[in-house]
Amino acid sequence: MNCLRVQRVLQSYLDGETDAATVRRVEAHLEDCRRCGLEAAVHREIKAAFTRREAPDRDAVERLTEWGRSLMDPPGSPGDGSRPPRP
Ligand SMILES: [Zn+2]
Repeated sequence: MNCLRVQRVLQSYLDGETDAATVRRVEAHLEDCRRCGLEAAVHREIKAAFTRREAPDRDAVERLTEWGRSLMDPPGSPGDGSRPPRP
């Protein structure tokens, strides 16, 4: 399963509306693919917040989003891998 297909079924997957075979394929992809794994984690956090009837934990979403951005930095950019965190 590739990223595009995972994106298409991610919402259904998180809602538990996909069949067992799809669940297994999506889970395998989420473990291999950090970007999709991140997206699933963010959606999970937002859904959990809705379930609690609270606003999403902004810190958690923010952290995950930052992490996702760092993964998407082009390789070989200045300071690659050794950039200090922002203050
Ligand atoms: Zn992916």
